[in-house]
Amino acid sequence: MNDVGQKTKEGRDTLTVVKPVSFVVSGGNGNHPDHSVPTLLVDDLSFSYPDGQVALRDVSLQISQGEKVALVGPNGAGKSTLMLHLNGILGGQGQIQVAGLPVTKPNLPTIRAKVGLVFQNPDDQLFSPTVFDDVAFGPLHMGLPEDEVRTRVARALKQVGMSNYADRLSHHLSVGEKKRAAIATVLSMDPEILILDEPSAGLDPRARRALITQLHELPLTMLVSTHDIRMVNEIFPRTVIMDEGQIVADGPTDQLMNDVGLLEAHGLERP
Ligand code: ADP
Repeated sequence: MNDVGQKTKEGRDTLTVVKPVSFVVSGGNGNHPDHSVPTLLVDDLSFSYPDGQVALRDVSLQISQGEKVALVGPNGAGKSTLMLHLNGILGGQGQIQVAGLPVTKPNLPTIRAKVGLVFQNPDDQLFSPTVFDDVAFGPLHMGLPEDEVRTRVARALKQVGMSNYADRLSHHLSVGEKKRAAIATVLSMDPEILILDEPSAGLDPRARRALITQLHELPLTMLVSTHDIRMVNEIFPRTVIMDEGQIVADGPTDQLMNDVGLLEAHGLERP
């Protein structure tokens, strides 16, 4: 269990974020609003697993407030590894900032409240008896007063279309409901950015549709890894393609999805 809010079974706190902070806000790809401080800044991030497997090579990425960005690429491209860096579960060489705050060990409790990371398997995030308890977990551990916790839980459940589920048993939910409940567990923290790892994987068409509708309607900054290219086309204006630990393309989704050569080169299907 980690310090605050971010519930995860992977409790690694290793962090060796190194370089001094230097903002370079200009030079984005021009397809998003110009805010002076990006919601997410990743600069020259590299990481190898302890067995020597290189997973990230010089990854740089900026996401502005309100942007919804899809992260696609073949298995093993480094998508999950990148996501695990964004709230300091893994720590590589390079720098990461969330809303201007560097991801460093002393900042981890604050960072984990700002970065709502949802794992592919919702069972990694739901372990309380009821949905209410799961969604209240983060705010309670932040020390918020009971009224505020209740308000946040109600709002988060509403945001995922589960207002009537507070008293349901988490482990009895369907996979689609579990996925949305897992998202609610981080929404209750009022995050700056929502990071989702393959949210639509394993869902039947109706559950997938419900999830897409919720993600589309959520007014939040998002980075979402997925193999669901149709979902990407539908709700993500910007796409980042990773392969072999590198970002190989970053731009407007409609442009990238029409580049057959690019898609084929990185094992992606045309929608
Ligand atoms: P993706 O999420 O795009 O499928 P990952 O981030 O899971 O990619 O993996 C990136 C690379 O890191 C792959 O080569 C993968 O085999 C390797 N990898 C992932 N997890 C570990 C681990 N715990 N130990 C060693 N290598 C790993």
